[in-house]
Amino acid sequence: MDSMAGSPGAAAARPIEPPADGSPTTTGASGVVPGRVRQRADACPGTVDAAPADDGLVARVRLPGGRISPAQLTELAAVAATLGTGSVDLTARANVQVRGLSADGVGELGRRLARAGLLPSPTHDRVRNIVASPFAGRAPGALVDGDELVTSLDAALCADPELASLSGRFQFAVDDGTLPVATARHDVALVAVAPGVVALRVAGVDTGLYGTSPHEAVTLATAAARAFVRASEASGAWHVRELPGGAEELVAALGGGPVRSHESDGASHGGPAPRTRQKRVAVGVLPQADGRLGISALVPLGRLTQAHLAVLAGFGAHGFRLRIAPWRGVVVGDVPEVEGREVGGREVGVREVGVREVVAALDAVGLPSDPGSPWLGVSACSGLGECRRAGADVRSLARDFVARRSHDDGTAVHFAACERGCGRPSGASLVLADGAFAETDAETDADADAATMPGVSPTRSEPPYPAHLERSSWTTG
Ligand code: SF4
Repeated sequence: MDSMAGSPGAAAARPIEPPADGSPTTTGASGVVPGRVRQRADACPGTVDAAPADDGLVARVRLPGGRISPAQLTELAAVAATLGTGSVDLTARANVQVRGLSADGVGELGRRLARAGLLPSPTHDRVRNIVASPFAGRAPGALVDGDELVTSLDAALCADPELASLSGRFQFAVDDGTLPVATARHDVALVAVAPGVVALRVAGVDTGLYGTSPHEAVTLATAAARAFVRASEASGAWHVRELPGGAEELVAALGGGPVRSHESDGASHGGPAPRTRQKRVAVGVLPQADGRLGISALVPLGRLTQAHLAVLAGFGAHGFRLRIAPWRGVVVGDVPEVEGREVGGREVGVREVGVREVVAALDAVGLPSDPGSPWLGVSACSGLGECRRAGADVRSLARDFVARRSHDDGTAVHFAACERGCGRPSGASLVLADGAFAETDAETDADADAATMPGVSPTRSEPPYPAHLERSSWTTG
């Protein structure tokens, strides 16, 4: 963006007041005061624990690692069309939401998605929060198979009755050594630090514990989660950073140490040298380790329409892989580097679909894969008509904002209809409908989109609206 002058926020910047509704007290970069006793259970929605909104009930379907098959996407689209508003929303943690449900509709949705394999354990539905690179299992230079780790961790989570009591906000991350998805905001992270070697971090702190096989790594992660369940009994903490003794308390309980904080990713523990890491967002046509390609496209304002869903599900006929990206995007993987042509391969005469056709098909329905797209870094809460707190159509404001700039400029801006700032990616500046803004590190539930969420307490705001809003850490949450 050349300048923010003329942007929706330029006219009437004012300080944002913290919410006075009992939302969690926040402080500094970590957000919540360690040791504070939670007064209520978290109200994070799940597949069948839907949350109320202005347009009906909202169901959130967890997709560990953003994994979803074309057949599952087809069923999700059908469920959204027949029971909900017709669209499917992406969250900043690569989960999906269906809105506009009735109470009966939630039950029907649960039954249909269970049959589709999207509700493998009703008791663990809300705790299957695992973020990973959407290129996991395909990324060049990966130190471990992140896809395999995600699958194993998900299965281990669902098999452990004790872990069903984790908060619906407790976050796992799996980092295969390429895209740095694991941050200090993830409660338990498995971070590959050398070929076949995975370090266990809790809230960004090294435990000094390593796994040298997927089984060992998953065993460490589930042990850390169990230790958290026990350590949080008194405080009701939702996150490791909220424990009275912080992450160090958990490290000690695990028998790990010495500890070392990793507030910024890219550094590795002890022996292996720090590696140059990719940015946290990867958009465009990207190479896979096997020579094929992955096309990473943005989903404007995180909303997949029926047209989007039909195109994405249709790629399944060509054997392409689908992943939801933790920046409200989609990745179509396993695409051959060919242009559309008649080929004489396994099936003579079949028109092979290659990268050009995939990019064109995505573009035609409004899913840009241009790495300079003006949609990069722009997000919005659900807003008017969908949330009872919303008094303005901030999604239209966000569209207007994008229309005024020709390309991505490295900024990150989240438009919200109230100071709660639901769905704000960490590092993104918050812009309200009346022009107020805040640049804040305070805690935000990046998945939240309904008034049932606790909200954000911006720690700083300073008029006038800044000309340059640096996207310092476009993280997953
Ligand atoms: S920020 Fe959250 S609570 Fe506020 S209007 Fe948007 S969705 Fe509703």
